[in-house]
Amino acid sequence: MTLLDGKALNEKIAEKLKAEISRLETLRARGPLGRRPKLVIIQVGDLAESNAYIGRKIKFGEKIGAVVDHQKFPNTITQEKLITQISSLNTDSSVTGIIVQMPLPKHIDRDEVIDSIDPAKDVDGLTSRNLKLLWEAKGEGFVPATTKGIISLLDEYKIPIVGKHVVVVGRSFLVGKPTFLAFLNHDATVTVCHRHTKNLAKHSRSADILVVAAGKPNLIGKEHVHKNQVVIDVGINAVQNEVSPRGHNEERPRSTLVGDVNFAEVSKIVKALSPVPGGAGPMTVASLFENLLEAYNRQIS
Ligand code: ADP
Repeated sequence: MTLLDGKALNEKIAEKLKAEISRLETLRARGPLGRRPKLVIIQVGDLAESNAYIGRKIKFGEKIGAVVDHQKFPNTITQEKLITQISSLNTDSSVTGIIVQMPLPKHIDRDEVIDSIDPAKDVDGLTSRNLKLLWEAKGEGFVPATTKGIISLLDEYKIPIVGKHVVVVGRSFLVGKPTFLAFLNHDATVTVCHRHTKNLAKHSRSADILVVAAGKPNLIGKEHVHKNQVVIDVGINAVQNEVSPRGHNEERPRSTLVGDVNFAEVSKIVKALSPVPGGAGPMTVASLFENLLEAYNRQIS
């Protein structure tokens, strides 16, 4: 079984982006080229998972020499104020990319907020404009980071996509749907499964490449796979660890991160599998910054 190592590829991409930014630095020293690539991350509220995801993005940004500006707003912020803030970032020429960490509180309309981002700065690729470019298979948009990361991981391991049957489990706005479109654009035959799909195992077993993004620990077990498959686990679930009779201690964290795939079972059967943590997660972060550099290059050219 080949372990599809997203962490190793994340590090490889970090090196590449770091070199690119330092090359820009040299160019800047020679002339008034302006600024470093800068990502603004907007967060509303204080969800622990969001804090963790943002922390990883900040760390990666620092590592490659990009500027990351984390702007955190209280849960009570109005949609109007949030959109006003985004509009001012749109016109700020020092800002290369803007992302809004999901989820947003219920009183805020996600689509309206996302669509207030200038598509040229939408490095998460979630504005209507960029999604339409993905829909139309026009390469000039930004592909959402998780989807882009999945394709890059397959590419790195030279796993062919053209003509393959890809089964995507999950149809979310952030992952399932853009992933479905990206594989279709790469000439795969794609099936999308979701919570109403009957006989998931029948569908999943028919895949050459199985991508699982449902947010359900152990959704995919030995009965869902066969030996010639490549499986990408996009689930990130925090499961509570059992408390020992003596209570919690420092060495044993309260929760562990697991994917949607039962790793112990599935890793014994399939040809290749991406682990959690260390697979799709780090690829999402690296791909976001690839989009940031792409945005930067388009903005200065
Ligand atoms: P994410 O944004 O991480 O992809 P969401 O919670 O927004 O996750 O979406 C979960 C997706 O997973 C939905 O499309 C849902 O239909 C799918 N899903 C949830 N449970 C199952 C299941 N038991 N079988 C197949 N698909 C499922």
